[in-house]
Amino acid sequence: MNTEHFYIDGQWVASLDGTALDVIDPSTEEVIAKVTLGGTRDTDAAVAAASRAFASWSQSSKDERLALLTRILEVYSRRSDEMGELISREMGAPVSMARTAQSGTGTYHIEGFIKTLQEFEFERELRPDTPADRILYEPIGVCALITPWNWPMNQIALKVMPALAAGCTMVLKPSELSPLSGMLFADILHEAGVPAGVFNLVNGDGAGVGTALSGHPDVALVSFTGSSRAGTAITKNAADTLKRVALELGGKGANIIFADARESAVAEGVARCFNNTGQSCNAPTRMLVERSRYEQAVKEAAEAAERTAVDLASAQGKHIGPLVSQAQFEKVQRLISVGLEEDKARLVAGGTGLPEGHERGYFVKPTVFADCTNDMQIMREEIFGPVLSMMPFDTEEEAIRIANDTPYGLTNYVQTSDPDRANRVARQLRSGMVDMNGQARSARSPFGGYKQSGNGREGGTWGLEEFLEIKAVGGWMPDGH
Ligand code: NAD
Repeated sequence: MNTEHFYIDGQWVASLDGTALDVIDPSTEEVIAKVTLGGTRDTDAAVAAASRAFASWSQSSKDERLALLTRILEVYSRRSDEMGELISREMGAPVSMARTAQSGTGTYHIEGFIKTLQEFEFERELRPDTPADRILYEPIGVCALITPWNWPMNQIALKVMPALAAGCTMVLKPSELSPLSGMLFADILHEAGVPAGVFNLVNGDGAGVGTALSGHPDVALVSFTGSSRAGTAITKNAADTLKRVALELGGKGANIIFADARESAVAEGVARCFNNTGQSCNAPTRMLVERSRYEQAVKEAAEAAERTAVDLASAQGKHIGPLVSQAQFEKVQRLISVGLEEDKARLVAGGTGLPEGHERGYFVKPTVFADCTNDMQIMREEIFGPVLSMMPFDTEEEAIRIANDTPYGLTNYVQTSDPDRANRVARQLRSGMVDMNGQARSARSPFGGYKQSGNGREGGTWGLEEFLEIKAVGGWMPDGH
């Protein structure tokens, strides 16, 4: 595979109007590959290939699509370690974690969409008493899929698999910070026999290929995961052509820990916040603790942060790696400084600067601030690094109010052994997801946010329906084919 090429119409091709970009290993700051940032002509070529392929792929049968998804699962499973290693190098996830959690999300979502497709009925009756009405679910058209670098395979699989299952054709633009995993994924689809033009990949940045895709008249849907800033820009640019825009954006999740929560709740909350070096949209970054347990919780959180090892992405074992880029490193350092300047916030672990033992690489000290108030910048802004902000609360109502007092609404977390309280709080939280007492949501559950965390839902039936139009037919012939 030539990393400077794009995958268009079933083959790897040279760019028509691109510029070169270095891919940097965030552990060493060394260049590991060169890719091309495409331009308008590259984008147009990919959209044209997808438009041509739509005529036949949109008419493919459910069995054909199931067979294709099953082949993709076979090839992906075989190449999953290779994928993990590439993700580790390009975005800095520790290699053991990249081979399991990062790469594993691909397998998980491919399997999930095979099951969803098996169960999905593309033609349904409106009601049993209306035999002459038929509801048809049809592919929306050419889709632009724009993804971030933090969980690259998670995001790519959550978009490409339902698009294929729906009968759509597509152009994927992976993040310019994690282009290599996207290219390997294209290679996997090619090996699995995805028909030419159905899936296309063009590397690029937001200002170039991203903007060309969101404004393209022949693109019917943009499915985007990334920052709220880019989500706004895409929505505005897509407005002129009135295309559908599905957004999965940032978060500032609250983790509400009541005094009766299980022993391990605080340490688990810290680990969850620092997972993937804090670079997860659903990270529980605001820890709200009932006052009677608060001081003990601060101590436990500081200890958990001190215990968190920071090491090279290539080192085996359990630790956190670097942040993805110099820009992200500078942003997180700046926000830690902002926290230090707050009169009331108390730094109990970490702080600014490189962790001990590191002289290069975008490494950050696992950091905990206690005694925060919800108006502080470190409680409002998505930091996207291993930084936890803690504050106490006195009543259930207060905890809910603080949790909901944010522009975001992606995932909130509740820890309590009182079943009535758990369910009562879950109902009142304004977020697309609520995770309670460390229990993970099941496969094919919808992932997405309220408010400025976006408007889309990925995974399961909800994730498939985003790629479908609904056609209502009157005068349907129940006896016809
Ligand atoms: P980003 O918005 O900078 O970039 C994401 C993607 O969008 C990249 O491919 C980028 O090239 C592209 N892009 C940027 N500006 C664009 C524009 N104007 N038009 C079109 N495309 C544009 O985000 P990032 O730094 O790569 O990722 C981190 C963000 O993603 C965080 O805010 C995180 O919370 C969010 N995220 C959300 C979810 C979710 O499902 N809700 C999941 C993972 C990450």
